[in-house]
Amino acid sequence: MSFLRPFLRKLLWCLACATALTATAASGREVVIGVFVYQGERAATEDWSPVLDHLSASLPAHRFRLEQYDVAGLRSAIAERRVDLVITNPGYYVAMEAEFGISRIATLVSPLAISTRQALGSAIIVKTERQDLRDLADLSGKRIAAVAPEAFGGYLVAAREMRRQGIDPESDTREIRFVGLPMTNVIDAVLSGEVDAGIVRACFAEQLAQQGLLRIEALRILSQRREEGLPCALSTPLYPDWPIAVTRHTDPVLAKTVARALLSMPEEKGGLSWSVPADYQPVHDLYRELRIGPYAYLRDITPGGLLRRFWPWLLGALALLGAWVIHVVRVEHLVQRRTAELRDSLRAREAAETRMRESQEQMEHLSRLSILGEISGSLAHEINQPLTTIGNYARTVLRRQGSGNLSPEAVTEACTEIVNEAERAGGIVQRIRHFVRKRETARAPVDITAIAAEARRLISGLMAQAPEIAIENRSAGPCQALADSSQIQQVLLNLIKNAIDAGRDLPAARQGILILIETVDNRLLIHVVDRGVGLGAEQRGHLFEPFFTTKQEGLGLGLPICKTIVEAHGGRLRAEPNADGPGMRFTVSLPCHEHSA
Ligand code: ADP
Repeated sequence: MSFLRPFLRKLLWCLACATALTATAASGREVVIGVFVYQGERAATEDWSPVLDHLSASLPAHRFRLEQYDVAGLRSAIAERRVDLVITNPGYYVAMEAEFGISRIATLVSPLAISTRQALGSAIIVKTERQDLRDLADLSGKRIAAVAPEAFGGYLVAAREMRRQGIDPESDTREIRFVGLPMTNVIDAVLSGEVDAGIVRACFAEQLAQQGLLRIEALRILSQRREEGLPCALSTPLYPDWPIAVTRHTDPVLAKTVARALLSMPEEKGGLSWSVPADYQPVHDLYRELRIGPYAYLRDITPGGLLRRFWPWLLGALALLGAWVIHVVRVEHLVQRRTAELRDSLRAREAAETRMRESQEQMEHLSRLSILGEISGSLAHEINQPLTTIGNYARTVLRRQGSGNLSPEAVTEACTEIVNEAERAGGIVQRIRHFVRKRETARAPVDITAIAAEARRLISGLMAQAPEIAIENRSAGPCQALADSSQIQQVLLNLIKNAIDAGRDLPAARQGILILIETVDNRLLIHVVDRGVGLGAEQRGHLFEPFFTTKQEGLGLGLPICKTIVEAHGGRLRAEPNADGPGMRFTVSLPCHEHSA
């Protein structure tokens, strides 16, 4: 059965063709072949009549008609579906393929072509005597004649080659003069010297010479090359020959039938024949390189083209960019200015803090000296006592020695006492030195009870008859103040000294002082309570003013200094009458250190 298969397939194919042909014939529609002609060229009917004759003979059921169009006419005929088949040059074919979707069914085999792929080229001719013109690169700054801007062999093929040789025909030449058809116009322009060079279809000059219309020696071809099998010289590579194409609306069966008929067309008829469709990619490449036809949009990809096309967008983008740059610069400027301001204010603050710390230390030192001055009377008395005792023992030893009554035991006893008293005096001096020494502030969690006890010890050591000072710690929680212990001790010493002064001339029962420590609302309170003379409301209003004093020898600086120190610790110092009787209650309130809980 397998031998029957090809036979059956052929039978089916013939049946299909016959049905289609019958249908087309029945409809009586004629087949129009649109042919592109250059105006001024020989009549197309003459050139293409063998094709028409062959198709009419091969497909008698069809009436074939040839219509000539210039390029614009051909385009509108395709657009309006007035043609079924299109014969045009490779350049327009590529353009219309892109625009209207026409598709080639066969490519012409010209008698002068090497093959369907190598058929059309250009020759760039100059007068033979122009020794200054040898190759395409010499055309820079020269005048060149060509047929028309869209002429394939008459301009485009040569233009591409010139570009390849580094000459832009549009900008590097002095002039491209389009002289139109017939192509002899180009040759005339060259020979008359109107132009330096001319672009003609390859083999055109040779054809004229054969017809006796041109003396070929008068012309020379630039960048001359020879292609094997081609009887004439040319300046460019060869491109595919003219195709015949069907339009989108052409009946596919008709297309196939016509293709078969064309491929079977014998060469004798007018020297023309048809072959399978050639590859038109080189023509596409040419159009793309020259950025024309379907690739004209590529011209807009140049900076200038892009600018022309997208200038509103570019302008908008530029405006946005400009606004953004201005914004960034402004923000940067503001940030720098604010940073500088911040730096300045930080510096000013640091300087102020340093000044404050220095003056506070100064005041503190002054205050210590002031306390020392006030207690210096009792201090002198205190030191005088051991000195007197030392003197007494020394005199006794001297006297006994004079009377020969000095036993070794007496010497030992006297010297021991002298040493003890000297140490006592030394201890007093040591404490004063320690107390008066100027020092830097350093904050740490402090034990207030211990500071109060140390203040009491100091007062007792410095004063001859210090009153009783009781310390009572009622604080329940673990609250500790973050403070400079020496400064807090300084405050307590001041308050204790004032309390002692307030009870100095009163009976002993009113001289006692209580230091009460408690914690209230996350604050550490240290009360210094006395039962002394107290103060009236009017005087209390001036208590913390510098130089307010009721004492003859007073400076009036103690309490202002105490207030400054306490406030520098984030605390408060207040004074009020003693609630439990006569006298005053001074309260230092300090915030609890947050890590003390
Ligand atoms: P000064 O002790 O040198 O006078 P202060 O600033 O320490 O300076 O005290 C100012 C005044 O406040 C004292 O002169 C005194 O009149 C009054 N004062 C301070 N503490 C008490 C107190 N506990 N009882 C009564 N008056 C006081």
